[in-house]
Amino acid sequence: MTGFGDVPQRLAGNSYVVDEDSHIAIDQDLARKTGDGKLLVRICPAQVYSENDDGSIGILFAACLECGTCLALASPGVLTWHYPNGGFGIAFREG
Ligand code: SF4
Repeated sequence: MTGFGDVPQRLAGNSYVVDEDSHIAIDQDLARKTGDGKLLVRICPAQVYSENDDGSIGILFAACLECGTCLALASPGVLTWHYPNGGFGIAFREG
């Protein structure tokens, strides 16, 4: 027991300024061919990625923690990812 609360409690302290434009894009065909779509659904700690009924991958970019895990693990070309535009994105309140 650390006294800092569990992960959902700690994440709830963060705040977001959401841009209209997504900072994440996915090549759906390449994600399907490589299997990376399913990988992204499993590894994102914020559950940004979801698999749609047709097998395509949905992106809830507003929830992104900007941790970079998806970009580090996806095959080259599957993701286009950059930090949100200046002033947008997450502000961490708990480390
Ligand atoms: S940067 Fe982190 S939180 Fe954001 S989509 Fe990728 S894995 Fe998820």
